[in-house]
Amino acid sequence: MTVSNDPIKFLLVDDLPENLLALQALLKRDGLAFDTAHSGEEALERLLVNDYALALLDVQMPGMDGFELAEFMRNSERSRHVPIIFLTAGTNDTARRFRGYEAGAVDFIQKPIEADILRSKANVFFSLYSQRRQIAAQRDELAALGASLKAADHQKNRFLAVLAHELRNPIMALNSGLHLLQRREGGDGTADIRTAMNRCLSHMTRLVDDLLDVSRIEKGKVSLKRETLDLNDVLSLAVATSRPLIDEAGHTLILDLAPEPMLLDADHARLTQIIGNLIGNASKYTPAGGEIRVRAGVEGTHALIEVADNGIGIPADQHDRIFGIFEQVHADTDGTYGGLGIGLALVKQLVELHDGRIALKRSVPGEGSIFEVRIPMLGTTTG
Ligand code: ADP
Repeated sequence: MTVSNDPIKFLLVDDLPENLLALQALLKRDGLAFDTAHSGEEALERLLVNDYALALLDVQMPGMDGFELAEFMRNSERSRHVPIIFLTAGTNDTARRFRGYEAGAVDFIQKPIEADILRSKANVFFSLYSQRRQIAAQRDELAALGASLKAADHQKNRFLAVLAHELRNPIMALNSGLHLLQRREGGDGTADIRTAMNRCLSHMTRLVDDLLDVSRIEKGKVSLKRETLDLNDVLSLAVATSRPLIDEAGHTLILDLAPEPMLLDADHARLTQIIGNLIGNASKYTPAGGEIRVRAGVEGTHALIEVADNGIGIPADQHDRIFGIFEQVHADTDGTYGGLGIGLALVKQLVELHDGRIALKRSVPGEGSIFEVRIPMLGTTTG
């Protein structure tokens, strides 16, 4: 951090040169410099170009007196907050003439000046100003840090997008090769191997697609292909697509659709992706033989979709984290769960593109989780 080493400045205003000299002698200390002015007009000129930690104003001066000068100071944006100490010769009554108390500090010292009182009052403003300088330097340093963090974040996102693109092509090539092999199935006992490879490939494809989606959304490049659709159809498709995963884990899936069609103006593929992702998580974070419920209903102007499981759940103090990108609650050191921690962040962004909301309604470790998604029904979309 670079805090300015320039001396802190006080402005001393008095028409009598000997008083200015006496004040400087009284207040002299390391790190403090004085500007002097012999009249209100001269003081105003100095105030235009300098920053002062304190202005000491003699009240009785020929021409513009100390109070008039102070009024001018308070009316100018530049000098509005400069603290003022008036040096008055009269009684306390004269002090009442000044009406600029709202802005900046104001104090009074009566002549003849008591050296200790003046010094201790002036020292307060000296310290305040040097603290303010330090805070300003810290603020600048934080801003610079923030900017470099932002740049690093952009760089990371660019890298992820490039990585995803690079991975996508070889995966596609492997996929086609695998399909070709499948067609030439010769009963040579390699079917199991191919099935396993297929599963790995679809997992990788999904990860890479998610990564690409995240970077596309960040760049504002995802636009929805909206159409009128029945949510019940989307739910049935999402469940059918997730079925192999659910069966493999031995889960039971209960689909509770609304009796009526639920019409939405939404992107079919993206909505399927949203629900498929939630069902995928429900299946992944539930020990074998669990129960997953997918329910749809109407709530006011919105369609409400609930995906519930009786799996491992999420501790309460982690609930806020899970929709953040790369956030994972359950350490996956041995690869049990798989994933990059982008699924829910992506789902949230896709829901919001639909003018909808997603929330973790309830989640208790050992009992399970309920995620809920609200999407405006047809005719209620706001934007
Ligand atoms: P991941 O790729 O790790 O699954 P997500 O963004 O989909 O990433 O989810 C973020 C984290 O939230 C997960 O790592 C997991 O810890 C937690 N999580 C998500 N869904 C569930 C769920 N149904 N039950 C328990 N934990 C979950």
